[in-house]
Amino acid sequence: MEPRDIDGDLTEILISEEQIRARLAEMSRQIEVDYAGTDLLLVGVLKGAVMVMADLARELHHPVTMDWMAVSSYGSGTQSSGVVRILKDLDTDLSGRNVLIVEDIIDSGLTLSWLLANLKTRGPASIEICALLRKPDAARVDIDVKYVGFNIPNKFVVGYGLDYDEKYRNLRSVGILAPHVYSTVAA
Ligand code: 5GP
Repeated sequence: MEPRDIDGDLTEILISEEQIRARLAEMSRQIEVDYAGTDLLLVGVLKGAVMVMADLARELHHPVTMDWMAVSSYGSGTQSSGVVRILKDLDTDLSGRNVLIVEDIIDSGLTLSWLLANLKTRGPASIEICALLRKPDAARVDIDVKYVGFNIPNKFVVGYGLDYDEKYRNLRSVGILAPHVYSTVAA
């Protein structure tokens, strides 16, 4: 049971804390093999990727450096448009670096597609993506994501960094919001 599900706001726990921990460990072993003997820069996308970045970085038996970007995606309602503005840029020069973008979730993929193209212009030695969650049925662009934690249904999820109206980020698991939460906010 999710200890912070105080008001019964979730209809369902989709992915438990234990499942997340186990999957991040598996992904970390793969990343260690793939980047053995090389430098690795983790680029987290604020704010949603905070939890996955923190847990992945601590799970990795590999020296890493970390940096953060914040972007906002313009769109109507909950739909991403792919038009992106940088709210906080990286402090790190990417030239010659092995970059791993760490994302919470890939929905349409439009935001990430823009970010990938932007970071590629900065001359990294390599650039790959690690996402905890991906919604294959929502994809509007084809992105090569090297490390995926879980493919999930095309539903709005919260927890483990993901918010609704800036809430629920500190849930330890990923869950589906109950409809009464949406209707309360809309009222
Ligand atoms: P995309 O450009 O891939 O459509 O949108 C990606 C961003 O939309 C994510 O980084 C996340 O901030 C937000 N997002 C997409 N799906 C969900 C979801 O199910 N729950 C939450 N909380 N945010 C989502």
